[in-house]
Amino acid sequence: MNPLRSLILAAAGSDAIRRVVTASPGTRGVVERFIAGETVADAVTTVGRLVDDGLYVSLDHLGENTTGARQAERAVQAYLELLDRLHTEGLSTRTEVSLKLSAVGLRLDEKLALDNAWRICAAAEQNATTVTLDMEEHDTVEATLRVLAELRHTWPWVGAVLQSYLKRTQGDAAALAAPDSRVRLCKGAYAATSDVAHRSGHHVDLSYVRAANTLLAGDGYPMFATHDPRLITLLHERVRWYGRKQGSYEYQMLYGVRPDEQRRLAAEGETVRVYVPFGANSYGYLMRRLAERPANLAFFLRALVSR
Ligand code: FAD
Repeated sequence: MNPLRSLILAAAGSDAIRRVVTASPGTRGVVERFIAGETVADAVTTVGRLVDDGLYVSLDHLGENTTGARQAERAVQAYLELLDRLHTEGLSTRTEVSLKLSAVGLRLDEKLALDNAWRICAAAEQNATTVTLDMEEHDTVEATLRVLAELRHTWPWVGAVLQSYLKRTQGDAAALAAPDSRVRLCKGAYAATSDVAHRSGHHVDLSYVRAANTLLAGDGYPMFATHDPRLITLLHERVRWYGRKQGSYEYQMLYGVRPDEQRRLAAEGETVRVYVPFGANSYGYLMRRLAERPANLAFFLRALVSR
């Protein structure tokens, strides 16, 4: 992993840095670029705009590593309100939700997280949409896959996420490339040590392509989450090689990242889903976006000193 990236991800855990970043006026510009706003109304407005442009959406209510059951319950209530609202606004057929299990209690008690995710999946079904479980730090992968397996007994459409930076991912891709499965493949946004993770970008990319081949050869619905132009070109070739028709897989990108590319792919008939975060608790998400690209950090620092 790039040393600057490791440094930012490590600094993200410091309370002092959190205080500086959240109090800084410079943060607002970065927030506006990557986050749809604080309220459900803000999220719905953004979703409406993206859907009008022919895009699909996965909405994420910001929050992670919840430290109490009450906080976890607030996260559940936010999702229930969101799902209800998406249905009322007629947006649920093109919009699903992404859920971080740590936001609904995974670090407190796996059973609590399962019960909470269960309620969110039940509401998603009632409101004619689906849920994808985001993948977080590597020490949560086993528990996330266990919760996923429980949920998929009732709702086979619950989506999983695999991170190609993890050495275990090829095995997980083979296990998940089953009929009805929905699997988002990404590179991985967290820091991890070399016993569990590939350290070089080249190996992360190779692992991505290997897992993509496995998912495309299987019977599930692969969701390729990347902005990497080289990978997108390669995936374009791979989907054809495997005889996949448009609509039997999708591309996914983050809100605020390569919006022109999102529209270009959609105009070519591809299904493109934009991951849209909203809510007040933006710090962790923002730090991962800064770590991904030094230019984002420069943008942030410029905004900081120009105020
Ligand atoms: P990179 O090599 O990082 O980037 C390729 C190019 O894309 C860059 O050169 C730049 O032009 C552009 N780019 C990439 N990131 C940014 C950015 N932040 N700002 C501006 N430009 C950028 N990670 C997880 O660990 N768990 C998840 O559940 C998860 N879900 C995701 C869902 C979606 C829809 C997407 C798109 C990503 C998700 N990620 C998740 C993040 C992912 O793991 C990567 O950290 C992130 O996508 C950057 O990797 P990349 O494939 O775009 O390639």
